[in-house]
Amino acid sequence: MKGFFNRILSINVSDQSYHVDPIDDSLLEKYLGGKGLSTYLLLKHNPPGVDPLSPENRLILATGPVSGTAIWGACRYGIYTKSPQTGFYSESYSGGTVADYMGRTGFDAVMIQGASESPVWLEIFEDGVRFHPAQDLWGLDTYQTEDRVKQLVAEENPDHPKAGVMVIGPAGENGVTFSVVENDYWRSAGRTGTGAVMGSKRIKAIAFWGSRKKELADKDVVSDFAREIAKRGKDDAGANAYKTMGTPMLVKIVNQAGAFPTRYWQKGSYENWEKISADALHECCEVKPHACLKCFMACGRLSTVKAGRHAGLRIEGPEYETIYAFGGLCEIDRIEEIMYLNDICDRLGMDTISAGNLVAFAIEAAKQGKIQLKIDYGDVDAIAKLLEDMAYRKGQGDILSRGIKTAAMEWGMEDQAIHVKGLEPAGYDPRVLKGMGLAYGSSDRGACHLRATFYKPELSGIVDPDQINGKAAIFREWEDRLTIFDTLILCRFYRDLYQWEELEVILKGTTGLKLSDGDIQTIAANVTNNTRRFNIQEGLHPEDDYLPRRFHREVLESGKVITEAEMKTLLKEYYRSRGWNEDGIPPDF
Ligand code: SF4
Repeated sequence: MKGFFNRILSINVSDQSYHVDPIDDSLLEKYLGGKGLSTYLLLKHNPPGVDPLSPENRLILATGPVSGTAIWGACRYGIYTKSPQTGFYSESYSGGTVADYMGRTGFDAVMIQGASESPVWLEIFEDGVRFHPAQDLWGLDTYQTEDRVKQLVAEENPDHPKAGVMVIGPAGENGVTFSVVENDYWRSAGRTGTGAVMGSKRIKAIAFWGSRKKELADKDVVSDFAREIAKRGKDDAGANAYKTMGTPMLVKIVNQAGAFPTRYWQKGSYENWEKISADALHECCEVKPHACLKCFMACGRLSTVKAGRHAGLRIEGPEYETIYAFGGLCEIDRIEEIMYLNDICDRLGMDTISAGNLVAFAIEAAKQGKIQLKIDYGDVDAIAKLLEDMAYRKGQGDILSRGIKTAAMEWGMEDQAIHVKGLEPAGYDPRVLKGMGLAYGSSDRGACHLRATFYKPELSGIVDPDQINGKAAIFREWEDRLTIFDTLILCRFYRDLYQWEELEVILKGTTGLKLSDGDIQTIAANVTNNTRRFNIQEGLHPEDDYLPRRFHREVLESGKVITEAEMKTLLKEYYRSRGWNEDGIPPDF
């Protein structure tokens, strides 16, 4: 099919072998690429009940039919596996430049199994794979690893000196369940612990290079569409807001809504929010908008601290979610200090949302005398030390490195831990934004904010945050559209510009498929049913879709709470709108 290479590369790192298989058009017509294709492969090849950190767990890397084209936002790759953090389905995406290099190798997906006896880094190119020893890279941080591997590729391939490189840090090497795969220094496939799976296979880095180009169904359709979207983007308020302020703009908006998680989910607003807002960032730092490869929104903030103890510190960030996790949950009231913790997590290769949640949980544990640890809200240096201890699995950090479920059990705090399926939520309190309650509950990877990005319609007033009845159908439509984003693979910040009509044009121009929005929605539903099947196979029960009880029992200072009955209704309607039975089981399972 056009828009694809119809090739999958399978690698076994145990014996350093690989082979290439064709992908049938019928499969791509049914599921498209990215998430659709990879979920199918996981269901087919992953042994049910497999230990996520065992050699048998597949690690699948994929691009979609838009990758390598002129379509705006087509600069992401996806990673799919069974998560060591949740024990369920794992997907995670990252931007930057790597997706483009992956596309040039001429494979739609790379499926990795096995585990090397000693550390390796892989070089993937048009003809296959080279396996390189990586003992001297093991232990390096993510930035050092990326620099070194890029240098090695350039030395070895003078004709192709440039490569896209994804790496893990010490956290991934040490099996920290929320470790990330990182690229371009600051871009991460951040959630659900893909870095730990890569580390369990003893793969320190993967470099991609090549010069393959995929054939498109209609090049003119693609370039006309890209031109039209660029024109529309100039006057698009959302696009301009991302460019001017980046995701930190959400601090003000979410705090005003009373949904900014603060002091480990005890409050919905933070009195010092102005010190950690987008304005504060732009005042304390030299900030340049920074974009992934095919993007005019440039939501990234390349920020350099101007003064103080972190003067000169430079990162791309911090993103809103990192600000909420360290600023709100841990009550750190200086944006430069949040950047400092962000930098530590990036270098060690840990997800900032999970890390911030776990630190705040440990602070509560210490305050309640459940553990002996000298730490408090706002204590940056103690938090920095705990982050290092998590990555190197020392002391209480070792318990936290195994994830929130383990820490809660060890410390007798299961009734206080905030997570769904073992994944901590993002920065939107579901007691205020009730559709986010459904998002956290129904997402196959745990308390995820991205599968439907339902905070957007609820915060902008498109959907009443308090609405319960009838909300699941609206939610499902958002989720389906963004599932298609993940099969293509597109950045979801283009969600306002790419409605169903635009997705039809993208599919026609790249793949040649002439589909109605109903047809496209059917593909999305098929993919969602597959992720659900995967999870049921891994032991998912209906109660796993429920929120932590604290969201039902603890009322926020604004008086907001989401009741158990409301959550039950949301889930019941959601299952029904998906055609699942009352236990959330899809048909033909
Ligand atoms: S909007 Fe942000 S994340 Fe999305 S492609 Fe652009 S720079 Fe990357």
